[in-house]
Amino acid sequence: MSWIHMDLQNYINGDFCRQSGENWIINLEPATGKKICRIPISNSKDVQKAITSAKDAQKGWGKLSHIQRALWLDKIADKLEEWHEEIAELESRDTGKPISLSRSVDAARSIANFRFFAKIIREIEIETFDMQDARNYVIHKPVGVGALITPWNLPLYLLSWKVAPAIGMGNTVICKPSELTPMTADLLMRAINDVGLPKGVVNLIHGNGLETGAPLVENSDIDFVSFTGGTITGSKVAASAAPSFKKLSLELGGKNSSIVFADCDLDKTIPGVVRSGFLNQGQVCLCGSRIFVEEEIYDDFKNKLINEVESMKIGDPLDENTQLGALISKEHLQKVQYYSNLAIEEGGTLLTGGEPYLPVNFEEGNWMAPVIVEGLSPDSRCSTEEIFGPVVTLHKFTKEDEVLEMVNNTRYGLAGSIWTEDLIKGRRIAESIHTGMVWINTWLHRDLRVPFGGVKDSGVGREGGRWSLSFFSEVMNICIKEE
Ligand code: NAD
Repeated sequence: MSWIHMDLQNYINGDFCRQSGENWIINLEPATGKKICRIPISNSKDVQKAITSAKDAQKGWGKLSHIQRALWLDKIADKLEEWHEEIAELESRDTGKPISLSRSVDAARSIANFRFFAKIIREIEIETFDMQDARNYVIHKPVGVGALITPWNLPLYLLSWKVAPAIGMGNTVICKPSELTPMTADLLMRAINDVGLPKGVVNLIHGNGLETGAPLVENSDIDFVSFTGGTITGSKVAASAAPSFKKLSLELGGKNSSIVFADCDLDKTIPGVVRSGFLNQGQVCLCGSRIFVEEEIYDDFKNKLINEVESMKIGDPLDENTQLGALISKEHLQKVQYYSNLAIEEGGTLLTGGEPYLPVNFEEGNWMAPVIVEGLSPDSRCSTEEIFGPVVTLHKFTKEDEVLEMVNNTRYGLAGSIWTEDLIKGRRIAESIHTGMVWINTWLHRDLRVPFGGVKDSGVGREGGRWSLSFFSEVMNICIKEE
């Protein structure tokens, strides 16, 4: 495939360039265990070079109008649109996810992110507040130079979600994609290079968290950090950003509940709950991995759930019909298997899954059949800790208060879903859940205008729509006294 470069390079000041040291990470294909490419491990010298480039570029870029910058976002979207299929294939190979998903979500949404932010940036208006003798103008100014740090589960989707509003609001950025999935970040730099975006507006440094991400966040010339990743990493990022008061957005882990009431439409709920539990092999921060089912329909729901899950097609991510691909890495597979074994130690029963699983011709990949566990206490580790894999736990409930207590009993507070035909009850329950987002009778139904983010250990701040515009800018009030 023409996009695959055996050694990826950093992208700094409009140049694809080598790192200053000699250290590399080998990037493996999750489905086959074969090498895709090497990526440089950038060090603090590379970090400084990228920051200097972004700082220089910010002087000119920050002066452009919103309309001028929106034009650039559209140009990038046009280029990505030309490469839609390449994005889908690269993302599928790099992450192990089914190509149908990388087409409909990763490729499509990355393009949509640039288009969406171009549109809403064009619509920004100066707010005014009139007094009897004066007028206040509120304007949006760039924050400055930002670090955009992203995880491996939705690589281009999440990077584009940050790059588009960040540069659209006049900032310049340094991207630090996950070392496990660098391919589409490299592709985005090629798109940006091809359209001729002014040099230094977007820079990218490859590498790991310790040698590359940490010095980037710590650098005093970084004005803001938008981080998506695990909660433990997020707390390190927050600690190192705090002394210099960097503006910070943290989108972290989740342990989300699906609440199924007896009055739900079961024919829609079963596929909805399965999608929520197992999309991207359960490796979505929003995945509903704790399923609470009202007692009256518990057995019926359970049997239908098992049937639906066992009928999912697992295997070659590049096969159009595949529904479940490989897990991201051997280490992550071990972590998820650890939790599946722990479920038994904690007194649970595996209703399906748990045996080693290796599709023919993919024996070196990171594979696991989906697991459904029942009989666990809702306080157990498996029911409250983020597993981030194809493992869901089933719990029974009888009363609203009881289910709410169980649902809210986790350190996380990202999302959740409720399945009921009684929408008054649905809203009542939704408003009592301690998360940033709840869906009723659907899951991951995204409108890009709405706020996205979590509470408790799931993060700080919101991105999405005008919340992104607000994070990636500084508002300034100018008060003019009128005679
Ligand atoms: P991770 O925290 O291990 O890594 C995320 C990124 O941070 C990577 O680019 C990594 O190299 C970098 N990093 C690691 N240590 C760093 C440090 N000390 N300083 C700066 N950067 C550092 O997360 P992951 O395993 O890549 O992703 C999975 C996690 O991401 C899950 O917990 C998942 O829930 C979460 N996630 C959250 C959202 C959300 O929107 N809330 C979306 C996707 C994924």
